[in-house]
Amino acid sequence: VSETAGIDTRVGDLVAALPVDIVLTDPDLLVSYAHDESRFTERHAPALVLLPRTTDEVSLCLASAHRLGLPVVTRGAGSGLSGAANPPPGAVVLSTRRLNNIVDIDTLDRIAVVQPGVVTTAVRAAVAEHGLLYPPDPGSVDISSIGGNVATNAGGMCCVKYGVTGDFVLALEVVLADGEVLRTGRRTIKGVAGYDLTSLFVGSEGTLGVITEVTLRLLPAPAAPMTLLATFPDLRAAGDAVQAIIATGTTPSMLELLDRTTIGAIEQLSPLGFDESVGAVLLVQSDSPDAAEDITSFEKACLENRASDAVSSSDADESAMLLQARRLALPALERLGDWLLDDVCVPRSRVVELITRVEDIAVREGVTIGVFGHAGDGNMHPTVIFDESEETSRAAALRAFNAITEAALELGGTITGEHGVGRLKTAWLARELEPASQRVQAAIRQALDPNAVLNPGAVL
Ligand SMILES: Cc1cc2nc3c(=O)[nH]c(=O)nc-3n(C[C@H](O)[C@H](O)[C@H](O)COP(=O)(O)OP(=O)(O)OC[C@H]3O[C@@H](n4cnc5c(N)ncnc54)[C@H](O)[C@@H]3O)c2cc1C
Repeated sequence: VSETAGIDTRVGDLVAALPVDIVLTDPDLLVSYAHDESRFTERHAPALVLLPRTTDEVSLCLASAHRLGLPVVTRGAGSGLSGAANPPPGAVVLSTRRLNNIVDIDTLDRIAVVQPGVVTTAVRAAVAEHGLLYPPDPGSVDISSIGGNVATNAGGMCCVKYGVTGDFVLALEVVLADGEVLRTGRRTIKGVAGYDLTSLFVGSEGTLGVITEVTLRLLPAPAAPMTLLATFPDLRAAGDAVQAIIATGTTPSMLELLDRTTIGAIEQLSPLGFDESVGAVLLVQSDSPDAAEDITSFEKACLENRASDAVSSSDADESAMLLQARRLALPALERLGDWLLDDVCVPRSRVVELITRVEDIAVREGVTIGVFGHAGDGNMHPTVIFDESEETSRAAALRAFNAITEAALELGGTITGEHGVGRLKTAWLARELEPASQRVQAAIRQALDPNAVLNPGAVL
C-alpha cells in the first residue's frame, strides 16, 4: 500500500511540475497507451501521458520525472511488435505525437531534418516532391513514426538494396534521462570525430534517451520500378529461387516471399486470383536504369527453380497493387485467428533451411504458421495462428514461436531482424549475446540512465 501511495504522490508532483496542457490524466484515454501491436506482452495503462510540443518541454518532462524517480516510456505511433512501448506498472508514457514538423529539406546537401512524431510516409512524400528518396519503408510506413523507426532501426522491403533506417541517419538531437539535450552526428556525409553516438541511439528502443530531432540522408529518386510476381508450387522452390536471384549478381530493390497460408488469407481479404495450387509467391522489383534487363534475369532464375508462372509489369498502378498484397500479409493473417508474429533473420544462404524448419515446427506443434517476409535479407516473419481462448493452443503457439527463434540462432542468425527486443524477447537476448557483450551493453545503459528511469524492463 505504501509503495502505491508513494507512486501516486510522485505522479501528482509530476503533474504539478508540468504545463497543464501537455498532461493527459483521463483514465479512459490512458488505457489506449497501454500497449503497442505486439501479442504475449504485458499491458498496463500508464499513470499519465505526457504530450510535449518542443524539445524544451521534453527536457522539462524528463528532468522532472528523473528528479521524482518515475519511469518514462517513450511512445511514437505504437505500431511496434515487441512490446517496447508498453509501460510497466506505474510508468509514465511520453508521446512524440505533437513533435510532428518537417523542419528542413535541403536538396543540395540531400538531407531532411524532421521531428520524431512525423509519420514515415509523410517524410517519404515530402522529399519525393523534391525528386529525392528516403528509402526505408517498413510495412507500417503509413502509421509508424520516424522517431520510432530510428529507435527500432526499422527495416522494410527496400533493405535488400538500400539498407535499414540506421543507414540513413546522419545526426540526432536526443534528450537524456535527466533532461540534458545531446546532439550527435552532423550534417556532413562523412565525419569521424569521436565515438559514433548516432548509431548508439539507433535501435536503442527508448532506453537511452528521447529522440527529438532526426537528420536523414536522402538519395536521388530512382527510376520507376519494374515488378515481377512469380508463383511456386511450394516454399522450398521459392527459397531456391531467392538464392538464384541473389546469385545473378544484380541486386533487386525488393525481394519478398509469401507462403500458401498467407496467400490464402490475402485472397479472403482482397482476392487477387491465386488458386490452391500456389504454394508460394515471390515479389521482386528492380528500380535500376536497367530494370527491364534485371527483371528478365530474375524471371529466368525463378523459372529455372520450378516457378509455375512469372508475370512482370512496369505499370505503376499494377506494381502498387502487387505491393499492396504484400502489405496486407499481417492484416490478412490476423483474420484467421489470434496470431503471434516472429521476426528472425538468418544468413541469406540459409533461408531455405529456416523455411524447412518452420514447416517441421508447424507439423510437430499442430499449429498453422503463415510465413512471409523479406527473403532477400534472410529476414522472415513466421506467424503462428492460434486460439487465445484455449490454453493448449496458446501453449503450442508459444512453443512454436520459441522453436522458430531457437532455429534462427542455430542457423547463425539473430532473434530479431527489425522489430527489436522490446519486452517480447528480453530472455532471448541473453541467449544471443555473449557475456562480454551483455556486460558492455548494461554498462552503456547504466552510464546514460543511472537511475533506470527510461523504459525499464525493455531490451536488457
Ligand atoms: C502492420 C505492421 C507492419 C510492420 N512492418 C514492419 C516492417 O516491415 N519493418 C519493421 O522494421 N517494422 C515493422 N513493423 C513494426 C513497427 O511498425 C516498427 O517497429 C516501427 O519502427 C515502430 O514505430 P512507432 O513509431 O510505432 O514506435 P513505437 O511502437 O511507438 O515505439 C517503438 C520503440 O521505439 C521507442 N521510441 C519511439 N519513439 C521514440 C523516440 N522519439 N525516442 C526514443 N525512443 C522512441 C519506444 O520507446 C519503443 O521502445 C510493423 C508493424 C505493423 C503493425
